[in-house]
Order: sequence, then C-alpha cells, then structure tokens
Amino acid sequence: MSQVVGKRILIVEDERKLAEVLRDYLVADGANVDLLHHGDDALPALRLSVPDLVLLDLMLPGTDGLTICRELRRFSTVPVIMVTARVEEIDRLLGLELGADDYICKPFSPREVVARVRALLRRTQAWQNAAIAAPGSELELDDERFEARWRGRKLDLTPVEFRLLKALAHRPGHVLSRAQLLEQLYMDHRIVSDRTVDSHIKNLRRKFEEIEVGSDPVRSIYGVGYKYEPSD
Ligand code: CA
Repeated sequence: MSQVVGKRILIVEDERKLAEVLRDYLVADGANVDLLHHGDDALPALRLSVPDLVLLDLMLPGTDGLTICRELRRFSTVPVIMVTARVEEIDRLLGLELGADDYICKPFSPREVVARVRALLRRTQAWQNAAIAAPGSELELDDERFEARWRGRKLDLTPVEFRLLKALAHRPGHVLSRAQLLEQLYMDHRIVSDRTVDSHIKNLRRKFEEIEVGSDPVRSIYGVGYKYEPSD
C-alpha cells in the first residue's frame, strides 16, 4: 500500500491548473488534499490544522513561500517540499536553511511529485520509528515517566533536557533552530534566551558522553541550531 494513503496534504500553489493536476494525482494515490492559491491563506490554515505534508510553491501572491516555510518552522516540523520555478534557486534556498525537507523544480511531471511525496513520507515515518523508540532501540523515550534510556542505560535528564531531546529525536537528521527548540520548553519566552537552549543542550550532550564517550548523537550546526543523528 502506498505511503500516501489517508495522509493529509496541503498544496499551496497559485497556478490553479497545476495545483489541480497535482491534487488529482495525489488523490488517486489515496491522499486527502487541500488546495490554497494565495500565500496569505497558508499560515492561518496551517496554524489551524497541520497536515501530514505541505507542497509549497516559492513564488506566490501575498506571503511568499520563503516566509511561509520559515514561519511554519516556528511551530511545526511537518514535512515540507518546496517547489521552485528555477533550478538555480535551489542552491540559494538550501543556504537559507529554511527547514524544507525537499525541493522540486518546475517544470516537473506529476508522477515525479507523487514519488517524492511518497519518499518523504516514508523517510519521515522511518525516522520517527528509529528515533522514538520502542524498547530495544538506541534511544528510548518514555513520555509518561519523562525517562530516557541511551543504549540501554538511563539518561538522568531534567524535564527541560527531556523535552529538547524529544524534539530533536522526533526529526532525526533535521536541523532545529534555537527558536524552534525554545518552543518545546513551554517556558515564558520573554525570560529565556537562545543561550538558555545552548546551556541545556550542553548538559544534555555531557550526559550522553557520560554513558559512552563519543556516543553523543546531538550535533551543533554553527549559526543554525542543532540536530539529532542516530547511528542506527
Ligand atoms: Ca507560483
């Protein structure tokens, strides 16, 4: 069965014909698809309800795709495929670290888009399964008890460290900015700074190292944020 069956996909694309063709292909694959044609409608809709995947055009009337992606990443890690009309744009977009998961260049075949959507959903699912682990995997997180185990041994974490680790481990290989991580702390944002995140992360990494030297799966990405890299 396709990875896409039953998934909610939002397409933000001002070329209506193109958006409709994509929708038809994805619906044929089993997805539930919503269309938006104006950039200003995207963030309000996403704040109301986050889908399973977003196909986001770069050039839109109103709020552009860049801004939408950046703002979206402040409150959600939903997989995003960015669509751009120019292949040269992709390098620049990658450099901006918008947090998009994949890029597709126009013109494309709808089949290619469906294949990319399937692949990304499969990847996201695999990441989640690998990271948030059922007993026996490298990292085990027990939400109810706020308990984490690393390679079978207990990590003695504070609630803040637990939340940070959980946020990172939910999106292995994906860089989260300090602002995104702050969102996970449920603290008063007016009184905590980016440095707060850094110091909690530092303590978290030390605790991995205490269990096994060189095993720390948290990576610092200079000027951007942090990511979790599982070794399995
Ligand atoms: Ca466009």
